[in-house]
Amino acid sequence: MDLTLTQAEESFRAEARDWLAENVPAEPLASMDTAEGFAQHRTWERRLFEAGYATVSWPSAYGGRAASVVEWLLIEEEYHRAGAPGRVSQNGVSLLAPALFEFGTTAQRERFLRPMARADEVWAQAWSEPEAGSDLAALRSTAARCDGGWRLSGQKTWSSRASYADWAFGLFRTDPGAGRHRGLTYFLVPLTAEGITVRPIAQLDGDPGFAEIFLDDVFLADDCAPGGPVLGDVNAGWQVAMSTTGSERGLSLRSPGRFLATAERLISLCARSTDDPALREDVARAWIDAQAYRLQTFATVGRLLDGGSVGAESSLTKLFWSQLDERMHEVALRMLGPRGELTAAAPDAVDGGRWLDGYLFSLAGPIYAGTNEIQRNVIAERLLGLPREPR
Ligand SMILES: Cc1cc2nc3c(=O)[nH]c(=O)nc-3n(C[C@H](O)[C@H](O)[C@H](O)COP(=O)(O)OP(=O)(O)OC[C@H]3O[C@@H](n4cnc5c(N)ncnc54)[C@H](O)[C@@H]3O)c2cc1C
Repeated sequence: MDLTLTQAEESFRAEARDWLAENVPAEPLASMDTAEGFAQHRTWERRLFEAGYATVSWPSAYGGRAASVVEWLLIEEEYHRAGAPGRVSQNGVSLLAPALFEFGTTAQRERFLRPMARADEVWAQAWSEPEAGSDLAALRSTAARCDGGWRLSGQKTWSSRASYADWAFGLFRTDPGAGRHRGLTYFLVPLTAEGITVRPIAQLDGDPGFAEIFLDDVFLADDCAPGGPVLGDVNAGWQVAMSTTGSERGLSLRSPGRFLATAERLISLCARSTDDPALREDVARAWIDAQAYRLQTFATVGRLLDGGSVGAESSLTKLFWSQLDERMHEVALRMLGPRGELTAAAPDAVDGGRWLDGYLFSLAGPIYAGTNEIQRNVIAERLLGLPREPR
């Protein structure tokens, strides 16, 4: 595999680096899981969009630059290296948009993509329910056909940033008589619709961005948006949702740039904090692992460019990055000792308390985007060919 970048790719990277150096806010924004931080992040995303960096791989008709996957990876590296803010539009951009490109109508793409990229409309993922997480096909929320539209009822939970989001994409049971995976439909739901109650849930760090969404006989008219509120075919929502999970675990949710940047910060912290050989070895391992993830991603991209797909290997990737993130933050906290427990509000907090924040968030990595136990099942059954789990 030839990893040499072309002149055009190098220029693309350099241009992004310069723009980020000039535009990334000097002070970190407030947490995007708070009302204040959410608003700040929206404003930042608009700037990103106006500069053409919000969704570089999208067609230009929708506000992108039609950049290649390699160019997208380079932008990601630069974005994280610059310490730029987290993406409040992430669920829409990395989970819904690929499904809109694959299954949406032209009217739906024209209606939804641009406001999503500009964070004028922020999307929440409304899949999980109290009795349906890993076993998503057990979901019970329903959508029933009625005159001129649909009536939605049920409860969704663990919906990231739904407390402040404008729209949600979710699966609803439309044919209760059909098999578990068959009678589901993928809906696009305005969170302002009558009958919707969004109730925040505080996370481990206390921020209230997570939410439960209650739907009480919510009417969605067929013409509530151009192209209607159904993505893909009625009763074919499972297929749409599964294309989304490939994107989530595979490439687009956690690109290597994020971990390369954390590894570099860990090296800087190590240089300032310790000469303990065991810790230094752990730091070296973290850096090597981040580089390995980068190379593995480029290999996947090479395969995609040759017409291949990500497939079940995305489970390996998800397992790897989620464990790497935990390991890197654990090493940082070990280096910091008691000072690692200082939050951003403490005057002596090292690096603004971000290692503790990052550690708390890393604990969620093995859970969201499909738990690591489920990924291990996929690896065992689909990559190693071991006997299937009894169902
Ligand atoms: C930070 C964070 C953000 C999230 N954001 C969203 C969001 O925006 N939208 C959304 O819809 N959901 C979101 N989720 C929810 C997430 O998708 C679910 O928590 C996850 O799918 C697990 O489902 P569950 O919590 O119901 O656990 P369960 O499925 O009940 O699992 C409980 C435990 O049992 C294990 N287990 C279950 N089945 C098996 C099996 N067959 N084999 C082996 N082990 C098994 C699991 O691995 C887990 O350890 C988020 C979660 C987190 C932590």
